[in-house]
Amino acid sequence: MAGPSPVIVSGLQPSGTLHIGNYFGAIRQHIALHRDHEAYFFIVNYHAMTTLHDAEALRTYSFDIALDYLALGFDPNQAALFLQSDVPAVNELAWIFYTLTPVSQLDKAVSFKDKVAQGLTPNAGLFNYPVLQAADILIYAGTRVPVGQDQKQNIEITRNLAQKFNAIFGSGVPILPVPEPYILEDVAVVPGVDGRKMSKSYGNAIGIFEEGKALKKKVMSIVTDSTPLEAPKDPDTCNVFALIKLFADKETLERVAGAYRAGGYGFGHAKKELLGLMTAYFAEARDRRRELVARPDYVRDVLREGGKRGREKAAGVMARVREATGVVTTY
Ligand code: ADP
Repeated sequence: MAGPSPVIVSGLQPSGTLHIGNYFGAIRQHIALHRDHEAYFFIVNYHAMTTLHDAEALRTYSFDIALDYLALGFDPNQAALFLQSDVPAVNELAWIFYTLTPVSQLDKAVSFKDKVAQGLTPNAGLFNYPVLQAADILIYAGTRVPVGQDQKQNIEITRNLAQKFNAIFGSGVPILPVPEPYILEDVAVVPGVDGRKMSKSYGNAIGIFEEGKALKKKVMSIVTDSTPLEAPKDPDTCNVFALIKLFADKETLERVAGAYRAGGYGFGHAKKELLGLMTAYFAEARDRRRELVARPDYVRDVLREGGKRGREKAAGVMARVREATGVVTTY
């Protein structure tokens, strides 16, 4: 049975420069998804504040994510792209949700425990992150949330909150939808230049829009083993080949794999191949980004317009929430 048309929501965290792991693991799929349904994509600057207290950096990363998404093919006529802070009501809804969330549930959140295990001293914002995330989703009546496997537990918290809210305040009529996670295609983990998972926090990332000397230096620094140039090599254990795989068409991939196995093909050759492939793959997006950088007012207009659409949708949901909870306002 076909249900109502899904409402897609996705939060993009402006806590660093986007890298090719983000692209293949998430952004490429976001871009593919945003066209066909009602969709809200927002840059979660309040979430970023759980780990970032640098005004200039937050401003820059927030704007850059908008630039990056637009350059990579996000069409603002198809879906709303905006700043989380342009919909202040999201924090009001989050407050209502805090009052419905047992501390013990947040204590068990894997994403929180992971960050603490990595040595972060947690603040209350980081602890409460999944509750603000629930508000982000439910304030637009989101029903489908594209996320990686690692976010499944957080979406479960959102689902619990929607169900609990409806049970307590709905008198039999569901006020908030219970969203479904939409698990993104599990792309093989993209390795960084040191062979570990590419991550902005490991300092091993290659930015999507890096170019010229900086890009060349990064690619040349990718860690390989010390098999001599003449010797045959196994492409499947090589970090450079793992990256080539993301960018190459089938024919190129077969040719390069063959050259690895035949010998007489060094890692330097493979790195040059990768550099050429990466440069070509993002060439169009890079040109578009350059044009957008020269038109900051256009990008701000996109965000402003997206924010307006976000606020309009949020106003309807908040009116129902206020009515149901008795949190009245007089304006
Ligand atoms: P980072 O590790 O750089 O902080 P995030 O945790 O912000 O990246 O990830 C944002 C999105 O990008 C997530 O959906 C995540 O699954 C995806 N992603 C991040 N790094 C990789 C990677 N190395 N390979 C594949 N996907 C990745």
